[in-house]
Amino acid sequence: MSSLTNDSFSDELISQDNYDAAVSQAALDLEGCSDPMAWRKHLVSSGNSKIDVPQYLGGSGFTSKKMADVFFRFGQLDVELRDVPGAGHARLLINTGKENVRDLLAPVCSGDWYFGIAMTEEQAGSDLTNLSTRASRSGSGFVITGRKKFNGRMLTASHFIVLTQADSDISEDGLALFLVPSELVHKSTIDGMGHSNFSWGSMQIDSVELPPDSRLDGVIPAHVILQKHFSYWRTMIASVALGCAEHAIKLAKLHMNRRQIQGRRLAEMSHLQRDLALHFASIKSTQLLRDWALNSPDCELSPSKLSSMVKAESVEHAISTLDFAMNVHGALGYSSELSLEKRYRDLMGLRFADGASDALRCSVGRAICK
Ligand SMILES: Cc1cc2nc3c(=O)[nH]c(=O)nc-3n(C[C@H](O)[C@H](O)[C@H](O)COP(=O)(O)OP(=O)(O)OC[C@H]3O[C@@H](n4cnc5c(N)ncnc54)[C@H](O)[C@@H]3O)c2cc1C
Repeated sequence: MSSLTNDSFSDELISQDNYDAAVSQAALDLEGCSDPMAWRKHLVSSGNSKIDVPQYLGGSGFTSKKMADVFFRFGQLDVELRDVPGAGHARLLINTGKENVRDLLAPVCSGDWYFGIAMTEEQAGSDLTNLSTRASRSGSGFVITGRKKFNGRMLTASHFIVLTQADSDISEDGLALFLVPSELVHKSTIDGMGHSNFSWGSMQIDSVELPPDSRLDGVIPAHVILQKHFSYWRTMIASVALGCAEHAIKLAKLHMNRRQIQGRRLAEMSHLQRDLALHFASIKSTQLLRDWALNSPDCELSPSKLSSMVKAESVEHAISTLDFAMNVHGALGYSSELSLEKRYRDLMGLRFADGASDALRCSVGRAICK
C-alpha cells in the first residue's frame, strides 16, 4: 500500500501517462495562455500536482528522467512556461533539510503559492560574490536590505527565495537564503527581447523584517542548497530548450515539404537537407548527452558540472536550430504569424537565465583541465 493513501490523490492519478494527458488537456483549455498560475491551477484541478516532490514529503516522486520529459513537453509548448511543471523553484526547499518543508510545499502544490527566485543584482550575475543585498540579525529574526534585478515572476510570485550576503554571526559561508513574501518588497518590471509574459524585473528590499523560520539555510549551507537545486534545474531547463528546438525542426520539415520554389520543394534542396540533418543530429545528440548525465555516469565531472554542460550545450544548439528553422520559413519565420520568432527570442533569454552559457562552459572546461 502506498504511503500516499491518505493524500488527496493516488499513485494511479499521477502516472507519467496521466500527467501527459493532463498537460495536453491544459494546452487545449488554455490555448495561448502564458499565465503560470492559470497553468498550475489547471494541473492541480486535474489531480496532477507534486510530481517532482519526493514521496516522503507527500509527492509523486517523479525521477529526474521523468521530469526531464515533462519539461521537454513544456518546451514544445512555450519556453515561458518553464517553471510551471511540479513545484518550480519551490523544489529547492527539499534540499534545505528544514522541518517545515512539507508545510511550505503544500500551498505551492495546491496552486495557491508560486515561488520566484531572486539572486541576480545589477553588479552580481555570474559572480555572486558581488552581492550587495545583506542580512543581519534583528531580535530573534532577521532584517534584509538590497536591490535585486533581472529576476523573473515579479507579478506572479507570492514568495521569493532571496539570496543575500550575511554577517559572519549568521552564516559560515557568508551567504543566506530567505523566503520572502512578495508583498514585503517593491517590484517593477523591465522589458526584454523575449519573455514578455515572464514579468521580468527588479525588486527593492528596504529593511524587511523577517521571522526566524523564513531562513532557508542554516541546517545546510546556502551554497550547497543552491548547487543541488541548480544541478537539477539546469538539466530541466536544458530539456525545455530541447523541446523547443524539436518543435522547430518539426515545423521546418513540414514547411520544406510544402513550399515550392521554382518548381522544386525546399526539401529537395541539398543545402537545406544538409542543414536539417545537422540540426536534427545536434538536438538528438544533446538529448542523449542529457540522458547520459541523468544516469549519474561514472566520469570526472561532478553532477553540478554535468548539468552546466547539458544546459549550455542544449540552449546553444536550440538557438542555432531556431535560427535555421526561421531561415527555412523566410519572412513567415520572421513574422509573428508563426511561433518561431517568439521561441527564438525566449531561447535567447535562456542563454543567460540560470547561468550564462559562456560562464557554464568555462566552469566545465576548468573542471576537465583539473
Ligand atoms: C530571461 C531571464 C530570466 C532570468 N530570471 C532570473 C531569475 O528568476 N532570478 C535571478 O536571480 N536571475 C534571473 N536572471 C538573471 C540571470 O541569472 C543572469 O543574467 C545570469 O546569471 C548572468 O549574469 P549577468 O546577466 O549579470 O551577466 P554577467 O555575469 O555580467 O556575464 C556577462 C557575460 O560575461 C561573460 N562571463 C561572465 N562570467 C563568466 C565566467 N565565469 N566565465 C566566462 N565568461 C563569463 C559571459 O560571456 C557572459 O555572457 C534571468 C535572466 C534572464 C535573461
